[in-house]
Amino acid sequence: MATREVYWNIEGHNFLYLFFIIALIIFGYGVYKRVKLWKLGQPENRWKDIWPGIKDVIVYSFAHKRILKDGYPGLMHASIFFGFLFLVFATAIITLQADFAINIFNGWLYLFIKVTSNLFGLVALIGIIVAAYRRYIQRPDRLDNKPDDAITLALIFAILLTGFIIQGVRIAVIPDPWAAYAFVGQWMAVPLKALLNEAQLISLHVFLWWTHLVLAMAFIAYFPYSKLFHILLGPLNQFFRNRGPIGIPEPIDFEDESLETFGKSQLREFSWKALFNTDVCVRCGRCQDNCPAYLSGKHLNPKKIIQDMRVLMEETGEALQGETKVLAQAGEQEAAAASESEEAEEWTGRALIGEVIPEDDLWACTTCRSCEQQCPVFVEHVDKTIDMRRNLVLMETRFPAEAQLAFRNMENN
Ligand code: SF4
Ligand code: SF4
Repeated sequence: MATREVYWNIEGHNFLYLFFIIALIIFGYGVYKRVKLWKLGQPENRWKDIWPGIKDVIVYSFAHKRILKDGYPGLMHASIFFGFLFLVFATAIITLQADFAINIFNGWLYLFIKVTSNLFGLVALIGIIVAAYRRYIQRPDRLDNKPDDAITLALIFAILLTGFIIQGVRIAVIPDPWAAYAFVGQWMAVPLKALLNEAQLISLHVFLWWTHLVLAMAFIAYFPYSKLFHILLGPLNQFFRNRGPIGIPEPIDFEDESLETFGKSQLREFSWKALFNTDVCVRCGRCQDNCPAYLSGKHLNPKKIIQDMRVLMEETGEALQGETKVLAQAGEQEAAAASESEEAEEWTGRALIGEVIPEDDLWACTTCRSCEQQCPVFVEHVDKTIDMRRNLVLMETRFPAEAQLAFRNMENN
């Protein structure tokens, strides 16, 4: 029956569990830190539409409905996404066989995994090369480059490449009647066999196997600290997306006496979902490319607004943590526990309106919602802008000069 030995040529493979646990701890800590930041926001129920939410994840994540609207980057993303999906599937089947003694890595499933992981792995490798070419050679205006982008691309590329070379070395050393199904590995085997003798191939296999393992664990550990996190957050945001009629801002109840302010001027006045949005954004720049205000030369950039709010969220989280620590060190544990919310009221960091987001940017928005319609992960930009404008008008009496006459006339009438 078609199959292969899972840990061929590898001694002490049990160390992988240790690495896995370390990676999971780092992963868990990263997720915990981000959840804590989102919880700086106000409560909001986004669990109302379970089935429509699942449908949206299928349509917008798995079928790439919005992502493919933009052909070139859409196809590039799809190639990496489906490569990732098939390789995760292959790894899961191998794990079931090797670690849970469920004997399924054989027969047709083995051959299916061999073909799909080679085909989609190769497609993903090409996708990564295209992504790097687009980001660093073509450099479209909508993409800004951070070290995280390079690290992410290099990490995925190295995992895919080492995986293929390991397969090539194995095919070069042990006869494999099903080698043709692993066609990329078979291509790799030809030069490897020509260049190295058997002992060298065996040593290379051990070295690459552990390298591949460490890279895969680094991928897990790095996940919540990087743009890789969007693999999880994107579908979640599609699940939680607003399904009400678009273009209707939340009404203000002016009769509600418990309302101390109108609109929003502080980060913590936004809901957890609004803060979560800032982490979901992958900086793809589609909103920027489709914003009429940005395209007409205004300073407003919807991507930048979301990213700037993200930076402020991190600053707020760090400041609160620092203040809590100082209080705890002074032996005021009780005060420290109560302080997180109280200290926030006295937030003395950068002001959201004015220092983080220029007032002119808020007024430059036409509220056309083109940015939201284009965003592949359903970031909600416009309600944030409207809330900040409301605060400027209702609390600060600050509005653009063009609107002053209209407001005065309304007031008089
Ligand atoms: S709603 Fe505002 S930010 Fe969004 S695309 Fe329209 S003008 Fe730009
Ligand atoms: S808000 Fe959406 S469209 Fe804009 S950069 Fe972020 S992910 Fe892309």
